[in-house]
Amino acid sequence: MIELTFPDGNIKQFDSPITGFQIADTISKDFSRNCIAMIVDDRLVDLNTSVETNAAIRFITSKDTEALDILRHSAAHVMAQAILHLYPDAKLTIGPTVEDGFYYDIDMEPISNADFPKIEAEMKKIVQAKIPFQRKVLPKSDALDFFKTEPYKIELIEDLTDGTISLYEQGDFTDLCRGPHVPHTGFIKAFKLLKASGAYWRADQKNAQLQRIYGTAFFDKKELKAYITFLEEAKKRNHRKIGTALDLYSFHEEAPGMAFFHAKGMVIWNTLLDYWRYEHRKAGYVETKTPIMLNRGLWERSGHWENYRENMYTSTIDETEYAIKPMNCPGGMLLFGMKPHSYRELPLRSAEIGLVHRHEMSGVLNGLFRVRSFHQDDAHIFMTEEQICDEILGVLQLVEKVYSTFGLSFHLELSTRPEKSIGTDEQWENTTQGLRDALEKYGKPYRINEGDGAFYGPKIDIHIMDALKRTWQCGTIQLDMSLPERFDLSYIEPNNERKRPIMIHRVIYGSIERFLGILVEHYAGKFPLWIAPVQVVLMSLNDDLIPFTRDIQQKLEEKEIRTEMDVRSENLKKKVRDAQLNQIPLIVTLGNKEKENGTVSVRTLDGNVTHGIPLAQFIEMVCKHIQDRKQDMNIFN
Ligand SMILES: [Zn+2]
Ligand SMILES: [Zn+2]
Repeated sequence: MIELTFPDGNIKQFDSPITGFQIADTISKDFSRNCIAMIVDDRLVDLNTSVETNAAIRFITSKDTEALDILRHSAAHVMAQAILHLYPDAKLTIGPTVEDGFYYDIDMEPISNADFPKIEAEMKKIVQAKIPFQRKVLPKSDALDFFKTEPYKIELIEDLTDGTISLYEQGDFTDLCRGPHVPHTGFIKAFKLLKASGAYWRADQKNAQLQRIYGTAFFDKKELKAYITFLEEAKKRNHRKIGTALDLYSFHEEAPGMAFFHAKGMVIWNTLLDYWRYEHRKAGYVETKTPIMLNRGLWERSGHWENYRENMYTSTIDETEYAIKPMNCPGGMLLFGMKPHSYRELPLRSAEIGLVHRHEMSGVLNGLFRVRSFHQDDAHIFMTEEQICDEILGVLQLVEKVYSTFGLSFHLELSTRPEKSIGTDEQWENTTQGLRDALEKYGKPYRINEGDGAFYGPKIDIHIMDALKRTWQCGTIQLDMSLPERFDLSYIEPNNERKRPIMIHRVIYGSIERFLGILVEHYAGKFPLWIAPVQVVLMSLNDDLIPFTRDIQQKLEEKEIRTEMDVRSENLKKKVRDAQLNQIPLIVTLGNKEKENGTVSVRTLDGNVTHGIPLAQFIEMVCKHIQDRKQDMNIFN
């Protein structure tokens, strides 16, 4: 007798071993048809698995979170099968699922998007045939024999320590796999191949170059369509594309992974930093600046020489070894350690927008998002243990102020002590409680990532959400028990004893380059007035009015409004169109009527035209809109 317990507490008894399909059938045929897989005592398995002992059973249908991954993984098998039909000499390696889909790395002739339709058509045939996924288990030697013409599979099997090897067969195709899969290929109704790129076997450039083919799958055609629309929108917003179109920044082979900022990009850059400094001054921070190159002794002391050396750029000058800083922290520690501090000076909030370099593999570089050289808006706050809660709360409020100014929402995650860590139990308890208290006082919900903290202390990560609902981790607040120890930092307590300060690192933008890239995609290049590199473009209706237009421009610039004048001999329509393509928020046209009346005609980027605004009033509205750092495009609101 086998006794099976269901999530609702129901118990069913069966006389003999029974498969998932048969169990699901006892619930209802309809239910059974919608089942994808099942969980037997915490193990995710196929529905044709036979259950032979008492167990807890949970069925997975397309509504469960686990289902999509199973579907996409199964779709990777179908894609591999289709590719072998079309390219019989292709050799398969591995085909995992990723966040939004799946890929398969295949040793085959170079492939491009142009090949996708025929592969998709072949996949469609396999889907329509509703071929069941069948599990087979072989002794290792038999499995090696079975895959004898598949060199990559042989390498994978040789690495496996499993006694027996699990294979999955669907029709004429068999793959090495632990499963589970959807019951048959017919479940994969909505799929699409997305991208082909190069990859190396085992990510090693010395190995064979493979074709990595990405795809995705959904249970529902509508969901697939929404995803494709999202991808198209993301592509339109690609910050590399917009950066080129709006002349903001570029990359050059002379410095891979290091951005060159153009004049207009620098206006955005400086606007972000001006705003940052404004908020930080109000929040009681001081700003420092430390060298970008420091000697080996410093990096040995901080631990970077031992733990991070392969990511640092090093150089030897006058027989002394140096490294370019990968973070600002050690310099900040040196500054704090220069002189004795009293408890009265704490909390001490010391910020540095430092240029850091980290060597990244060339394959992972990605525009401003993943670079080798960037600026970090680090700050170190030195405090007493009693000040932790209030200080963290202060940082959270500053984070909210800054992000909301850009129209970005965010969520918080607290990461606690990992397995490998320094510090005593008591230190971890006190500091983690300090962070937790601050989060409670702050009052927004937060997620806890147990054991995900850094080895030197607990942390709060802040994930922002952009206009496409994509999340990015930018801000972080990390408590550090290591550096104050390594740099022997202390302050004098009221009783004249020396004590180690509590220290946190925190960033809000994170990498300023990356944050700027995120903003470009978030706004799709349509920056709010206060950020826009050119805020107003002026056009005269005829050349006689150019001197008058220049006067107006001067008046705007006196108020620090960033302007351009379009004096090209193009017609007005073309000039307006170009200004719109350049995403200039305000277009001012000046004719004889405007000159006589001392007014301006204004066209906003969303296409609204207002005539006859007195110049002084226009300037005032623009200044106010900039000063308030408003998100909307319309100065008349
Ligand atoms: Zn599989
Ligand atoms: Zn730091």
